Amino acid sequence: MMKKKIPSFISQIITPFQENNFEIYLVGGAVRDFLLGRPIHDWDFTTNASPPQIQKLFPKNSFYNNQFGTVTVVLKDKNKKQTLVEITTFRKEGKYKDSRHPEKIVWGKNLEEDLSRRDFTINAMAAEVEIKKNQAVKINRIIDPFGGKKDLKKRLIRAVGDPQKRFQEDALRMIRAIRIASQLGFTIEEKTFAAIKENASLIKKIAWERIREEFFRLLVSPFCAQGILFLYNAGLLKYIMPELIAARGVAQAKHHVDDVWTHSLKSLQFCPSKDPVVRLATLLHDIGKPATARGEGENRTFYNHEVVGAKIARTIGQRLKLSKKDQERLYLLVRHHQFSVDENQTDKAIRRFIRRVGKENLKDILDVRTGDRLGGGAKKTSWRLELFKKRLAEVQKQPFSLKDLKVNGHDVMKVLNIPPGPAVGKILNALFALVEEDKEKNNRRWLLKQIPLVAKKIINENNAAKQSKGEQQ
Ligand code: ATP
Ligand code: MG
Repeated sequence: MMKKKIPSFISQIITPFQENNFEIYLVGGAVRDFLLGRPIHDWDFTTNASPPQIQKLFPKNSFYNNQFGTVTVVLKDKNKKQTLVEITTFRKEGKYKDSRHPEKIVWGKNLEEDLSRRDFTINAMAAEVEIKKNQAVKINRIIDPFGGKKDLKKRLIRAVGDPQKRFQEDALRMIRAIRIASQLGFTIEEKTFAAIKENASLIKKIAWERIREEFFRLLVSPFCAQGILFLYNAGLLKYIMPELIAARGVAQAKHHVDDVWTHSLKSLQFCPSKDPVVRLATLLHDIGKPATARGEGENRTFYNHEVVGAKIARTIGQRLKLSKKDQERLYLLVRHHQFSVDENQTDKAIRRFIRRVGKENLKDILDVRTGDRLGGGAKKTSWRLELFKKRLAEVQKQPFSLKDLKVNGHDVMKVLNIPPGPAVGKILNALFALVEEDKEKNNRRWLLKQIPLVAKKIINENNAAKQSKGEQQ
């Protein structure tokens, strides 16, 4: 395994502890990622010093979070980049009520106790860090009481201790197991997986915000499709997103080999966006198909599936407690995922599409389309799609308002020699309509010539209207 170096700014954490004779260890995901040669993004330490003692070591750059008993130290590296380092006093597992939160934080006596309350063996290792004379930082020793290193080699997620008990203490660990497996491409050890299956229904006790956080991390992970499959096989998906299970075995129209479920998972896997809401939209883009399927084989249709699907997606967004803004994005991306890239569309139609989806969501809906295409066995793009993207950009450059028109009210008054009045606005609107049809027409010389013609046309129309009104009376 290629080991990544530990950055030297970490010495700012270690040194004060060592000078004051406290124990200090790097723990959790950082140790796991270090051993895997992956970039470390969370710096978590554990110590025998109490929170007030820790704060005393960092009087100027630390704050204390009461709820978790964690002191956060703010470090700056050479380039003034901030890193937050979390330091937690040794803890042990408190008594759990309701498979959720421990009733209160219980301090542990030593490192071993702290590691034993952690969820999986690969997350339950600690590293002793040594600071060399030249300030270089080196990992001296890995403390690994539960065989985490061995499981890293075997690529296994294994609960620390009795898996049944551990999932009953905190049911969210079941989704964490699958999320971490999807991030690392690991499998879940047999007994651990059996315990998840047995305790799956306990997930009902977990707050949706916590479920969403893990679920979103799964959606953006490298093995996300596998992750959804694991959730299904573990019996967890039916509590989180039963709508997706309805897609299993729903055949698509004839040219698709996969059922809607498999197509959805493949689309998710291929979606190029790293935004969890966009990835969720990709997973759910065909969620309306099970309810709208009519006919069989070549004659199968899913009329209005994007309308039905968008409603289902909205329900799911509410359930996962997405922000109002993200609920709306999810809805729009599913609602409009069927957009047409026909080269014969008018600019007007393309503008209508932009208005409906929202300018700020265009990149995202194209990412949904890319996932959908690749997930359906098509090539990543087509000349039609590329042309459509170009036109999206082009029509956005075209005038959307009268302000962008190359002639204005003064021009109209001057050419026609008329005073200000409603007629000026009418003529400008008529010119605008011409330009909207064809952007080449937004040319000052051409428009100036049009002014008398347009004026004449409006007068004629007015006269005709008056006349027909007169006839009616
Ligand atoms: P990532 O690299 O994706 O952030 P992580 O392992 O750092 O993964 P976190 O959720 O940040 O995951 O948790 C940090 C550490 O805290 C874990 O490695 C694990 O030791 C411990 N931990 C987190 N959640 C739980 C839990 N529900 N039960 C027991 N231990 C947990
Ligand atoms: Mg982390």
